Amino acid sequence: MQAISELISYVMQKPLLAIGLIAILLFWLLEEDASALTFSQVTVRAEDYAQSVLLWCALTFKEEYNNKPSIVFYKNRKTKDNRYGEYHGSTNEIRIFLNKNTTIQDITDTIIHEFAHAIQHAKDGLKNYDRYTRQYGYQKNPYEKEARALAEKYAPKCLKDLNYLYA
Ligand SMILES: [Zn+2]
Repeated sequence: MQAISELISYVMQKPLLAIGLIAILLFWLLEEDASALTFSQVTVRAEDYAQSVLLWCALTFKEEYNNKPSIVFYKNRKTKDNRYGEYHGSTNEIRIFLNKNTTIQDITDTIIHEFAHAIQHAKDGLKNYDRYTRQYGYQKNPYEKEARALAEKYAPKCLKDLNYLYA
């Protein structure tokens, strides 16, 4: 406690340092908030942003997968298991349900998630997918867990790299 109050009084004696720290904090907060924006609040279209994320994935994961999938957009579709997207290996196609993906963050997570399924498909043809779903359910299917983990790991860097498109 002592150290913190000493630190605060030290910073207060240096106005430029205080202003600098506040500016960094504001910049950080604004940057964090931008990914929560919906596509009605930004100029970039959801479809164009999705294509940019896909290109980002193709470059980032080129060692794992060098055959960029195409994206098909659905404006209004009821989906199984509350899902935001799907990957279809036979056509190498990512399907995006735009009624579910309303924010910058949603599209970023969904494209990286579906790209993970493309990588999985290249590795083993997703051959155990249906068996795992029967055995563990959709949420606990190891392919789904891996796809969610990849999105969680890479979304922050993707959002940062592409933030010129929406910030
Ligand atoms: Zn999935």
